Amino acid sequence: MKRYLIAGNWKMNGQSVGNADLLAAITPHLPASSQVDVAVCVPAPYLAQVQQVCQGTPMQWGAQDVSAHEAGAYTGEVSADMLSDFKTRYVLVGHSERRQYHGETSAVVAAKAQRALAKGITPIVCVGETLQEREAGQTNEVVKRQLAAVIQQVAHCVSELVVAYEPVWAIGTGRTASPEQAQLVHALLRAQLRAASAHAERIRILYGGSMNASNAASLLAQPDIDGGLIGGASLKPKDFLAIVAAALAQ
Ligand code: PEP
Repeated sequence: MKRYLIAGNWKMNGQSVGNADLLAAITPHLPASSQVDVAVCVPAPYLAQVQQVCQGTPMQWGAQDVSAHEAGAYTGEVSADMLSDFKTRYVLVGHSERRQYHGETSAVVAAKAQRALAKGITPIVCVGETLQEREAGQTNEVVKRQLAAVIQQVAHCVSELVVAYEPVWAIGTGRTASPEQAQLVHALLRAQLRAASAHAERIRILYGGSMNASNAASLLAQPDIDGGLIGGASLKPKDFLAIVAAALAQ
């Protein structure tokens, strides 16, 4: 039986008071022990707050980025050691907004994944094609290349990864990949993981891109979709809880 992961990505949203309200509206309603892991990936300044509020509850927490460097003269960066101080369980690496607006290459993303793993933090490695790449028939090639860079770098720890397939054209647009479109890419990624790890079946491959309360069940029912990375809907308690419920009902 799969163990789903539903991970919220707050992006650059929230402040202390609103965060407290949001968590108070979600956390008490999470099932205590279930086949579904639930997490929120929050802006770094709020890791302490989230740790304080969520420890001892079923809600896990993560960060949205980590430095590719260990320590030193990298102003503004946050290291994996620093994330560990807040018992951070997950960190997003290679989110398309970082690739697009911060010029992160697959080599940088791979280095970040390795830094996280070295400190016992699970990287959620985001891959996905742009609309232009999809229309040019390059989806498979793009996502395989992005994942290959990470697989090559982390070699023996591939089974410790979480992968998120996030078609760029579906992020924050209200346009979702159909369950069949998503499953095709997830199956491809699973095959790539199988070639690199004997434990590929237990690596969770999340779908992200306008997942919401109404489309979650059909996406999560796909054989190779093991959870969701949720942006906009993670800021709406009812919607986020409905997605968790859809995972529980699978
Ligand atoms: C995301 O930010 O990873 C994401 C999937 O956003 P949204 O759900 O808003 O499309």
